[in-house]
Amino acid sequence: MAVERILEYMRERQPEIVEQIRALVEIESPTASKTGVDRVVDAVTAAASGIAEVRRYPQAEHGDHLRLEFDIPTRGDGQVLALGHLDTVWPLGTLERMPWRVKESRLWGPGVFDMKAGVVYMLFAARALRDLGLRSRRRFVAQLNSDEEIGSPSSTRLTKAEARRSAAVLVAEPSFGLEGSLKTSRKGGASFWIEARGVASHAGLDFESGASAIVELARQVRRVSAWTNLDRGVTVNPGVFRGGSASNVVAEKAAAHVDVRFQTKGQASDITRRFRELEPLDARCEIHITGGIGKMPMERTDDVIRLFRLAQSISAEMGVGLGEAAVGGGSDGNTTAAMGIPTIDGLGAVGEGAHALHESILIDRIADRAALMAGLVHRL
Ligand SMILES: [Zn+2]
Repeated sequence: MAVERILEYMRERQPEIVEQIRALVEIESPTASKTGVDRVVDAVTAAASGIAEVRRYPQAEHGDHLRLEFDIPTRGDGQVLALGHLDTVWPLGTLERMPWRVKESRLWGPGVFDMKAGVVYMLFAARALRDLGLRSRRRFVAQLNSDEEIGSPSSTRLTKAEARRSAAVLVAEPSFGLEGSLKTSRKGGASFWIEARGVASHAGLDFESGASAIVELARQVRRVSAWTNLDRGVTVNPGVFRGGSASNVVAEKAAAHVDVRFQTKGQASDITRRFRELEPLDARCEIHITGGIGKMPMERTDDVIRLFRLAQSISAEMGVGLGEAAVGGGSDGNTTAAMGIPTIDGLGAVGEGAHALHESILIDRIADRAALMAGLVHRL
């Protein structure tokens, strides 16, 4: 019953929801522009005034981060955390060539899908629960970060602190595919530098006394590349390889930068250990490993499955099918999932083209997605 009322509420307010999305999309907010991101922070603060207690975490380098504690009817038994970000990957000036548009039953514009619509859904989810007087068990808090697109260097600490107090984390990042599937597992990632140091010598006059760092590094790269296991979702990509000084010199130095992706925490620690244990293949060379894990994977645990099933049943009450997907890229959801807090991701808009020129969302999926967020807070 409650879900039907929420859906009805969202349908009635759809023009307002679209207007709010437009307002946020029309403020350009690349992560690198503190001024731009702070303007979105201002706009969200204004939109949340009267429905949330707003706490702003000022940042020197990045945009400020926001915590909204919504004023909804609640027994106050713990909290549910909605997670999102206000920065985009689009540089200033993008609106000129990619302006806000409503056409072909979609909303278009930089950041509309990733993830300004998702932020607006949080605001309207809170409005619906308030206006309909629907009592939830837990408090409803939203954490909106301003540096997610560069790996959340300044916000991760806040995200962790908030997640620690939460029974569940609902990440309103873009959904997967045009059906709007949730993301129930995300790969984690690591990055390693392998530096090799050999012994330089003249390639013509004194070849035997040299030990090539390039040859050593090439052998190491072959070794680590063999750790790729596509069936298990592990990939090892040496994306950068540099070394040497001239063709007639046996190279003294070489370095490779290797990107690693994995699906489980076990794989993450296994691969880290293997990198750390690498030894030179030519005893005259030295190798030096730096780097490590950037994001832990979001694993599809029993808690995640339970949360997904709840979302699925709420969607079903609205007559909408809901699928799930495993994806490669990470989000702040990886951080909260790795802490063992039940997390589902991809609850935001249904559309396509995150970080791409055709970034857009489906208008006829606005109401049910905003309602899904409200329904989850109500039921959790
Ligand atoms: Zn995003």
